[in-house]
Amino acid sequence: MTDSQALVKTLDFQLNIQSDNESLLYDATLEARSVYNETTRLAKEGVDWNAIPDRVADDANLVKNTTQRVVAKALGAMENYYEYDDFGLPSHTKGGSYPLRANYEEGYNLSLTDDGDVAFRISAKPYKHVKGVLKGSDAHLDILKIALENDEWKIGTAEALFHNDNAELHVNVTNTEQTVRDKHDSRTVVGVDVNEDNVALTALSEDGVEDTLVIDFPEIKFERHRYFTMRKRVQNAGKDSIHDTLEGREERFVRDRLHKVSRHIVEWSRQFEKPCIVFEDLKEMRDSIDYGTRMNRRLHHLPFRALQFYTSYKASFEGIPTAWINPEYTSQRCPMCGHAERANRNKKRFKCKSCGHQDHSDRGASVNIAVKGVKKLDWNVPALNSLPVVRKVRRQASGLVDSPTVTHPTARGYQADGQVGVSD
Ligand SMILES: [Zn+2]
Repeated sequence: MTDSQALVKTLDFQLNIQSDNESLLYDATLEARSVYNETTRLAKEGVDWNAIPDRVADDANLVKNTTQRVVAKALGAMENYYEYDDFGLPSHTKGGSYPLRANYEEGYNLSLTDDGDVAFRISAKPYKHVKGVLKGSDAHLDILKIALENDEWKIGTAEALFHNDNAELHVNVTNTEQTVRDKHDSRTVVGVDVNEDNVALTALSEDGVEDTLVIDFPEIKFERHRYFTMRKRVQNAGKDSIHDTLEGREERFVRDRLHKVSRHIVEWSRQFEKPCIVFEDLKEMRDSIDYGTRMNRRLHHLPFRALQFYTSYKASFEGIPTAWINPEYTSQRCPMCGHAERANRNKKRFKCKSCGHQDHSDRGASVNIAVKGVKKLDWNVPALNSLPVVRKVRRQASGLVDSPTVTHPTARGYQADGQVGVSD
């Protein structure tokens, strides 16, 4: 039996820099990259890991605790590589910016303003600060404001980084009262595959696949495309204020739907014995390897991280832990025989080139994610002789759920358009 753990969240914000020195922050992230590279290079050379922090710190033009945090992260990546072979051998020759990691009240500080904003101050270089206010989703801002005012919450390390040329701050907060069951004390793993128009869920226990569900939300995709077209049109006409209004509306619409879907995921997961919800780690991926066009498209098409965040946040308040796995090959691998090939998949239809297994491709991906989750928790992967039929529910714009329809059992193959179903 393992102990339950504190509820920890990473909150993501955009930095609205008001001190007119954004380039200073960017320079610091370049410096962080050279600290990361130097640490990795020394570790590969076989230098004693205990000696590395001092050797690197002497040359780094960063606040001391920030240098230490970046060194620790680089060594952590090396350790992960040796222990789990997780994301490939860390590179020490990459250029560009690297997240600036800092301790709260040492490398960075936060405070509530009279206007209800959260002001930040980041020590980018020794004695040089970057200041402004945080922008971000209501969900993240709300938690941060609560954390700043409430003793139950502790604010931890943060990372300042550039994403698509925008400065961001990712802040770790911990709720010291609320606990989440240790993920190693789980009996069921729920693999979650997030797509532009659905999420596919598979619950896997030591006995095999317990159940599987696809939640369709075509209206999110539809509305996002509709808003995109409208925004383009008013932008071309030079009507920026309407553009911003539309963007706000779209954001609220999508956020509202994603909240409902994430609640649904947690509700569904709760029915299983000691569940652990498993997601693909899209954050790590962006920094490490190019996973090809499908993944890049997925990264940009839906606020995946928002859905993952809402789900893990709601789950943790039910005491349900979440885990993250490397997304490599989850959409191409055959869940039955393990054969991985891009051609196995054709949109929503999966047909294994090796064993002929047919499936709904997103459901197949969710099985693969669950299997990776099981491996991560160090269980034996159960033999998957057959998979249950794919049940689909659809989230209507009203938020109501249609009664479930049952599609063909996988042995008979899955209809690619998902519309033809055998009712139960
Ligand atoms: Zn196969």
